[in-house]
Amino acid sequence: DSVSQKPTNNEAVQVIVRCRPMSDQETQADCSPVVNVYSNRGVIEVENPKARSENERKKIFTYDAVYDWNASQQCIYDEMVRPLVSSVLDGYNGCVFAYGQTGTGKTYTMEGIEKDEEHFGVIPRAFDQIWYHINRTTGLEFLVTVRYLEIYMEDIRDLLKIKNSKSLELREITGKGVCVTHLHSQTCQSADDMMRAMRQGNKNRTSGATNMNEHSSRSHAIFQIVIEMAEHQSKSVKVGKLNLVDLAGSERQSKTGATGERFKEATKINKALSSLGNVIYALAENSAHIPYRDSKLTRLLQDSLGGNSKTIMIANVGPANVNYEETIITLRYAYRAK
Ligand code: ADP
Ligand code: MG
Repeated sequence: DSVSQKPTNNEAVQVIVRCRPMSDQETQADCSPVVNVYSNRGVIEVENPKARSENERKKIFTYDAVYDWNASQQCIYDEMVRPLVSSVLDGYNGCVFAYGQTGTGKTYTMEGIEKDEEHFGVIPRAFDQIWYHINRTTGLEFLVTVRYLEIYMEDIRDLLKIKNSKSLELREITGKGVCVTHLHSQTCQSADDMMRAMRQGNKNRTSGATNMNEHSSRSHAIFQIVIEMAEHQSKSVKVGKLNLVDLAGSERQSKTGATGERFKEATKINKALSSLGNVIYALAENSAHIPYRDSKLTRLLQDSLGGNSKTIMIANVGPANVNYEETIITLRYAYRAK
């Protein structure tokens, strides 16, 4: 077996893998599962359905944590995301990314299923954690704002103010870092306010698109929460920023048979995803040079990647043999990101 050992560690960067259950479609098509998850060891084992020798039958990867199809939304939130959101409430920045090919559970992981609390994903659970904290903290004044944007074909669109949907620019402002010009910030007073903003943004995301599924699989959606905390006595202000990112699908365009515009699009997506991988890899390795400038995604998130920030990359995979190659590509990407 080929075994990939986990290289040196940077506690601020966590890479985890989640494998969804077999879908009805896959079950009906008689697909067989090829992914084994060993949560206690952080190991994922994949069987190559086309292996010609015993030697190449199994590939083994190790991560900070791995979750199988039985892992609940709450479990992943409590074990991985809750500590990150706590540090945002202490004035640090953080990012949670969902990565993977279309249909592996990125949106399920980030948003979950609406009106079904057990299946709420990372985003609504973060809303609850934030407001639970705010409502029981005394002596601090909180100002909470949200922004919701997407990057489509390297263009930035504001999902909370669709009318002025001309693409927004990234600007480097001395002392403030990289900002998105004219991006709408919405003040929130409750978890419900945040849910409304998320729903509105999701609606706006669909409105321009002829095919929602296709559109969402080709764009990165970034839900950003900024929490300002002012202490009157000491006149000090802390700011924590949380970025919750549902990435574009990582599938290769060779499989989707893209040509022309579609091919260009796919190339841009692949470039942005690999530049994100490079940044996370460089951070995990404590490199001197972090290549933020290679994509809008990484430039935009620069102040929340590295420094005192925390990052969680959730790589999503499916269990079926038909996705073997994509699964391996995702596992390699996630492995390199650590
Ligand atoms: P993606 O956003 O990566 O394209 P989705 O989140 O839309 O994928 O997931 C595809 C389907 O699989 C959805 O119907 C979703 O509800 C289901 N699904 C994904 N992950 C899980 C899981 N861990 N448990 C149960 N259902 C899941
Ligand atoms: Mg999705």
